[in-house]
Amino acid sequence: MQEVLPVAWYYDEKDDTPMPVIRKAFDAGIMNIDIPEAYGGMGLGLIEQALVTEEIAAACAGLATSIFDSSLGMEPILLSNNETAKKTYLPKIVKDFKLTAFATSEPTMGSDVAGLRCKATPDGDDYILNGTKYWITNGGVADYISVFATIDPKSQHAGICAFLVEMDWEGVTVGRKIPKMGQRCSNTVGINFKNVRVPKENILAPPGKGFVLAMQTFARTRPIIGSFGVGAARAAMEYALDYAKKRKAFGMTLNNYQAVQFKLAEMYQKVETARLLTWKAAWESDQGRDATTSASIAKFYATETALEVANEALQIFGGYGYTKMLPIEKLLRDIRLLRIYEGTSEVQRVIVAGHLMNKYQATMPALEDLPLHREFDPLDQQAPQAGQKVWRCRICGHVHYGNEAPEACPFCFFPKTAFKEVR
Ligand SMILES: Cc1cc2nc3c(=O)[nH]c(=O)nc-3n(C[C@H](O)[C@H](O)[C@H](O)COP(=O)(O)OP(=O)(O)OC[C@H]3O[C@@H](n4cnc5c(N)ncnc54)[C@H](O)[C@@H]3O)c2cc1C
Repeated sequence: MQEVLPVAWYYDEKDDTPMPVIRKAFDAGIMNIDIPEAYGGMGLGLIEQALVTEEIAAACAGLATSIFDSSLGMEPILLSNNETAKKTYLPKIVKDFKLTAFATSEPTMGSDVAGLRCKATPDGDDYILNGTKYWITNGGVADYISVFATIDPKSQHAGICAFLVEMDWEGVTVGRKIPKMGQRCSNTVGINFKNVRVPKENILAPPGKGFVLAMQTFARTRPIIGSFGVGAARAAMEYALDYAKKRKAFGMTLNNYQAVQFKLAEMYQKVETARLLTWKAAWESDQGRDATTSASIAKFYATETALEVANEALQIFGGYGYTKMLPIEKLLRDIRLLRIYEGTSEVQRVIVAGHLMNKYQATMPALEDLPLHREFDPLDQQAPQAGQKVWRCRICGHVHYGNEAPEACPFCFFPKTAFKEVR
């Protein structure tokens, strides 16, 4: 807070990346904190990462992006099976202030990772990279980049592979900085790869394994995007609370009006629930569980509620909220991005819906197996229906007691075959 808040608006206005502040974050030991001790790191978990990120994002979500992006870029190395790459690069990231970017997105695709087109052509044990990556955070300031490419764009998931590329290798060109609506202090560029030779030591995932590596990476990084939302939304709520206590309208300060109190209460509720969801996903990941679904839920809940919170905060500020003299308009611009990068809100819904449709284990019995005893107490042994078989119409749910199902349902007229014996 002390380091980031004072410079946040300056770098936003300047549209520039505050390298001295990123360096301070590195020196303070709050970057890449989940690199294991075996590679010189602190060996902390995502919970700690979430705590740190919430605080930085409260001061400036753009700077949180710049600082955390190095973890995003580093994660594929950590998750890969390439021990040589881990031993070569992770200690340098920890000790030598080496920043790492991450690249799946391209000018013509973002959500559809399996549709990427950056080409990796085998050449002996090496690969030759050709193609363009777009929207690359820290691309203009990073030392390394985790690049996802394909041996054959038509082969979709089966062709996708990943490499660790050093940004000063021959054939790597960084494009001009992309001008953005918010998070302007985070560096975002396109990167072109022209005949870039990648040695076999730098293969993070061979063809067919790259897509899974990208998804495993997102399962670890999406909870932290949730923390961006929690931090920025909390800041918006706190500013709005402060303003509501000071601004007078109709003879009273705003905080006396229940309509304003309710807005603040809902903002607080959203910040708290978003934080819990974020921590749940981070905790699952720290436990070594597959946190894919929780990470998606945390990401889309926390980032969408953050936008709602910032929007309501602006409302409480009235006209002042819309100016550049007070902090809300920047928060709103910065937060808007959270619903887009690392998988849009829609993509998170696709993932959660896929889990529900294919993997979710229901605790409740299926509807057709569920008797609804309305006519007698099933625990009453003396009731006239006690001891009789129970039949349920699969169509309308009618429950029938008797040794046989009825010839037809008295409600929906479906024949006997519609009945299932249930308990
Ligand atoms: C500032 C910034 C920084 C970024 N940093 C990085 C980075 O460091 N590395 C990196 O690789 N990428 C980065 N990205 C890219 C980001 O991940 C993509 O923008 C994002 O994944 C969406 O892709 P797209 O922009 O191509 O949109 P598209 O994929 O073209 O989608 C457009 C719209 O269609 C919707 N849509 C797409 N498919 C479906 C579907 N199946 N069902 C319903 N809706 C759908 C999307 O949700 C979206 O609303 C960054 C982006 C920005 C803006």
